Amino acid sequence: MIEVRELTKRYGGTLAVDRLSFVVKPGTVTGFLGPNGAGKSTTMRVLLGLDGATSGEALVNGGRYAALRRPMREVGALLDAGAVHGGRRAFDHLGWLARSNGIGTRRVAEVLEQVGLAGVARKRVGGFSLGMRQRLGIAAALLGDPGVLMFDEPVNGLDPDGVRWIRELVRSLAAEGRTVLVSSHLMGEMQLTADRLVVIGRGRLIADTSVRELADRF
Ligand code: ADP
Ligand code: ADP
Repeated sequence: MIEVRELTKRYGGTLAVDRLSFVVKPGTVTGFLGPNGAGKSTTMRVLLGLDGATSGEALVNGGRYAALRRPMREVGALLDAGAVHGGRRAFDHLGWLARSNGIGTRRVAEVLEQVGLAGVARKRVGGFSLGMRQRLGIAAALLGDPGVLMFDEPVNGLDPDGVRWIRELVRSLAAEGRTVLVSSHLMGEMQLTADRLVVIGRGRLIADTSVRELADRF
């Protein structure tokens, strides 16, 4: 479960997130929708403990990220797919993440298989396309078999096959009972992927609705 309550985040004079509240329940996909600069990444960064809140709360499974006992087993995230060092091999990157989080390295082969990168496990990440990097980032998020997942703009720059793959993966993760938050600036794609839409602009909540209710109004 993800709970954002009256969250405000300021960077100097910039109000990135402004008294934002929403909840993501287990077994559902929530599309976190808004234009570039709306505050989606910032909200996820605070949820992941990579940034502090100015005020309000961003909770995962009822606690702040820093209070989670086994972080990668509770929450997995794809934030910036370009961030992995290009000189590393896919298998070694995931192996290092697994070891430093007390996760058995047997999981590495499993997640590489799950995201379709088993065939390039020994290749250096520097030669990977954006789509392959997204898949690697998703593999890292899945490593700890977490119940809560956050994907920041996972379909950016992907071809139609990649977009469909992510949509199906996200749906199947929710069908297994996981809590899934996916950000995007693409309304149409989120209507196909999500059960609920949390729409933000300039850090503020604009709408929080089920996709079915929205469709019924058209
Ligand atoms: P989104 O993910 O919706 O594109 P962001 O959360 O990245 O939006 O950005 C929200 C606002 O906060 C933007 O105005 C952005 O420029 C600003 N911002 C984000 N991170 C920082 C930072 N580290 N320092 C200063 N401003 C930031
Ligand atoms: P550091 O020792 O530098 O603080 P961290 O544990 O914060 O290291 O992060 C190490 C790597 O693991 C980073 O690439 C980060 O993006 C990734 N990471 C950390 N927490 C998670 C998580 N919950 N899900 C997925 N990746 C994570």
